[in-house]
Amino acid sequence: MSKHLVDKDTIVAQATPPGKGGIGVIRLSGSMVPELANALLGSLPSPRMATYRHFLDKNGTAIDQGIALYFKAPNSFTGEHVLELQGHGGSVVLGMVLERCVALGARLANPGEFSERAFLNDKIDLAQAEAIADLIDSASTAAARGALKSLQGEFSKQIKILNERVIKLRMYVEAAIDFPEEEIDFLAEDKVEIEINEILETFSEIAKQAHQGVMLREGVSLVIAGRPNAGKSSLMNILTGRDSSIVTSIAGTTRDIIDEHIHLDGLPLRLIDTAGIREAADEIEEEGLRRALNEIERADRLLLVVDCNEEKGAIAEKIEEVRGEIPSEIPTTIILNKIDLNSAWQTEIPDGVEWLGVSAKTGEGMQYLREYLKEVLGYTVPESGTFIARSRHVNALRRATSLVEAGRRCLIEDNAGELLAEELKICQRVLGEITGEFTSDDLLGRIFSSFCIGK
Ligand code: GDP
Repeated sequence: MSKHLVDKDTIVAQATPPGKGGIGVIRLSGSMVPELANALLGSLPSPRMATYRHFLDKNGTAIDQGIALYFKAPNSFTGEHVLELQGHGGSVVLGMVLERCVALGARLANPGEFSERAFLNDKIDLAQAEAIADLIDSASTAAARGALKSLQGEFSKQIKILNERVIKLRMYVEAAIDFPEEEIDFLAEDKVEIEINEILETFSEIAKQAHQGVMLREGVSLVIAGRPNAGKSSLMNILTGRDSSIVTSIAGTTRDIIDEHIHLDGLPLRLIDTAGIREAADEIEEEGLRRALNEIERADRLLLVVDCNEEKGAIAEKIEEVRGEIPSEIPTTIILNKIDLNSAWQTEIPDGVEWLGVSAKTGEGMQYLREYLKEVLGYTVPESGTFIARSRHVNALRRATSLVEAGRRCLIEDNAGELLAEELKICQRVLGEITGEFTSDDLLGRIFSSFCIGK
């Protein structure tokens, strides 16, 4: 579906968060802004000039005073007339100004409605609109930088360049099909295949970058599991640098899931410490156990903590035993803990498992563990050009790649140019979903409703 702006209401929202603040901003967008400004401010301020005004009630009495900023359509964030009122940041006074705007005919904005209008009016594309939310929500400086890159159109630009290549190739293939009487068989030449391969290489490059962008935005989750007393809580604490889990030597004290968010060079990591995987002794532990297994299923990687001291001579069996209790195929790394107590720990390691030794007490091996995690999760410390991305984008890139691959097969195996052209056409649409050229109302609804009000 192509874009269309159906709702011409003038919308209003508090753009600053609720609560007390030095200033509070009310934002309006829509065709009624000039007449609304006349009533509220006495007259319409000059575009883009910070203008000191009283914000007036219906009797002409001041509700508040502050700065009014008018952006004349189409030179505004939304592409419509926009008015921003910077008044005092108190919920009552802001509520009164909001109420006044509604009385004058504005409607309270839905979540993300300002950004949605910016998108519908071609001020930004969909990936950029998403980047606005991601910038506001970013959990690390690296994520914030990446979101700004996407907002500035870095990601969209790469997608658009790629899409133009796909279109050009399709047109070439279609021309070759339309003029079969030409002396040279264009399709039989290497040219098309070479171009397909180059496009696929670019896909793979962008997908790699987008994957990094997704990691920056969404982070990865690591589950820390193992037998009671193996040192899970201690490991969690040393990784977070905080005293989040209860560390004791009584088995079964970590009764619930504790999750912590940390960063590894900008990569947001969600660490989930689980209740000891063992027979649940009482109801509370049973619930903890159920939730632990649930978390394990969904995690990106499992760190299975084994006490290399206590289980001397039988580490391999212990690993198998604990692993047997985990109903999941997720990638696992064995953390042999307490290496400070067992100088012979290196001789205990069984073949065929990914492992490393640490001491959650002395910190030995921890730096190596951090480096290892970055590597095994496929994270590279972002350069300045890294953009943020969402799983939605990576999925679209994946679909687009398989379409081009299918097209290549049609060409090579069957010399079926029409089928190749058809796959390229669908590929074009799929790429267009990233930037919002082709989107369903449903998708737009889902994206913008996750924004906050006033965005
Ligand atoms: P959990 O039940 O797996 O969460 O284990 P805890 O983190 O509560 O640790 C159990 C006990 O082992 C505590 O007394 C910790 O102080 C101790 N412990 C944990 N890690 C180490 C380690 O690397 N070396 C030594 N010496 N003791 C540790």
